[in-house]
Amino acid sequence: LTPVPSDIEISRAQTPKPVEQLAEEIGLLPEELEAYGRSKAKVRLSLLDRLHKQPDGKYVLVAGITPTPLGEGKSTVTIGLVQALSAHLKLNSFACLRQPSQGPTFGVKGGAAGGGYAQVIPMEEFNLHLTGDIHAITAANNLVAAAIDARMLHEATQSDKGLFNRLVPSVNGVRRFSPIQISRLHRLGINKIDPASLTPQEVGTFVRLDLDPSKITWQRVVDTNDRFLRKITVGQASTEKGQIRETGFDIAVASEIMAILALADGLEDMRTRLARMVVGTSRSGQPVSAEDLGVSGALVVLMKDAIKPTLMQTLEGTPVFVHAGPFANIAHGNSSVLADKLALKLVGRDGFVVTEAGFGADIGMEKFFNIKCRTSGLRPDVVVLVATVRALKMHGGGPNVSAGAPLPREYIDENLSLVAGGCRSNLRKQIQIAHLFGVPVVVALNVFKTDTQAEIELVCQMAEECGASAAVPCHHWAQGGRGSLDLAHAVNQAASTPNNFQFLYNIETHLSLSHMPDKKGVPTGFVLPIRDVRASIGAGFIFPLVGTMSTMPGLPTRPCFYDIDLDPVTEEITGLF
Ligand code: ADP
Repeated sequence: LTPVPSDIEISRAQTPKPVEQLAEEIGLLPEELEAYGRSKAKVRLSLLDRLHKQPDGKYVLVAGITPTPLGEGKSTVTIGLVQALSAHLKLNSFACLRQPSQGPTFGVKGGAAGGGYAQVIPMEEFNLHLTGDIHAITAANNLVAAAIDARMLHEATQSDKGLFNRLVPSVNGVRRFSPIQISRLHRLGINKIDPASLTPQEVGTFVRLDLDPSKITWQRVVDTNDRFLRKITVGQASTEKGQIRETGFDIAVASEIMAILALADGLEDMRTRLARMVVGTSRSGQPVSAEDLGVSGALVVLMKDAIKPTLMQTLEGTPVFVHAGPFANIAHGNSSVLADKLALKLVGRDGFVVTEAGFGADIGMEKFFNIKCRTSGLRPDVVVLVATVRALKMHGGGPNVSAGAPLPREYIDENLSLVAGGCRSNLRKQIQIAHLFGVPVVVALNVFKTDTQAEIELVCQMAEECGASAAVPCHHWAQGGRGSLDLAHAVNQAASTPNNFQFLYNIETHLSLSHMPDKKGVPTGFVLPIRDVRASIGAGFIFPLVGTMSTMPGLPTRPCFYDIDLDPVTEEITGLF
């Protein structure tokens, strides 16, 4: 339709096919599906065993030029591309997307189901609770936090013997270590399995984690931009006997458990990663893990359903996996390894899996290669680099825009010199970064209605001069899959050429290639200020915190939730974009 209706109007105008029908179309067996309502279902991991001999499809990463407040449309391009590949070129394809956090949904960014005629439906279910994975992560994360504080209290108020008697209770007159306790004893170098044989000194070593309250790195989480929880004091009730300490909350998607969900390749691997998460340091300087707290089994129980990807569909009825959404600021900002692996098997040799990396290519794509691909062993065939005329103009020296203010004329009227400036700087640099990894790049110019023909042609011409295998305008937002046919052809062609993928590290920040958001283009001569370095031992990476980067976003003065309501009669959600 012209003009294009709002995202939610388009989403509601399409009735999703029953998820059982979608599952049958893509070759799932009924017993591999766990439906959550009518239009979404979790897919069992047993599918990987059934299809293990099936060759993988082609693996395509959608990344973007450095983000600007004007938006680039990576999710929209991802969905438009699979709609074009599946519904129009009749090539099996799957989109693998992140589950959005409620933080941005109710905060600044809004939803993440794509937009226009390139969306995952129903978009309300995509953007809100989905199948509860983030709630499971919150529960698991906070169980660890509760275990830490309770353990410190018990250690502070009980003798070694009292602790031992409670930790290793006597059943019918016999004390036995549980498997998780035997694992701790092994790590302490105490190779005994009879509790009665421990010396008093060994009892002391076994029962006391002796966590240093000032060295606890584990925070509580909630999936709301609740800035007032960034710093809190816990333990103020008299029952906690003066065990008062300062701690804080992060957004749930910043939990290491989310990073683990996204990187695990099965329940066992997830259990191993959860067990080795480090929550703090003992007074003698030893790391203390979730396994030491005895909580890792309970964590995997809480996460047992979350580990299964959720199947949904695009507006054109093509399959989508939504799974995991690690915070791109501090974790790797990519959807799950398991969803990609399942999808690559389901599409088969000639098919395509299109997945998306958060932020700009310098952050999201870099982590996709260096963390996600390194962990999964999967190798990408093509990078689709999303750009818009408006964002290129900003990188080329266009004025900053402030929220709610009208867009400056530069972004509405034709301005070839600003477009050229953005192509020569940020677009070229991001293409070069992808080439460092040895992967071909197709530039997808996400066309907005204000773009002129001359601007579109200039971007495509300059992108190819910068080394892109192809550069094509995409009209999926206004036209759905048929608006992305050129992109689908270009990706198909680029994927059939052999590439020389290799790992490397090239750590930079978002909104700018430097740590200064107002430095567009290719800034040089800056020193990156590292405030802190944290370790996600379970997930398997360390991450620096740069400048003022926060792990708990704040709500703006007028958050998105102002507009969100429920019609009491129809039970329809209103105002969700
Ligand atoms: P990203 O994944 O880069 O964060 P999205 O794909 O989520 O961006 O798009 C952000 C917003 O921009 C969505 O609301 C979408 O509807 C809108 N949008 C994307 N592409 C276009 C376009 N070509 N024209 C108009 N709006 C668009």
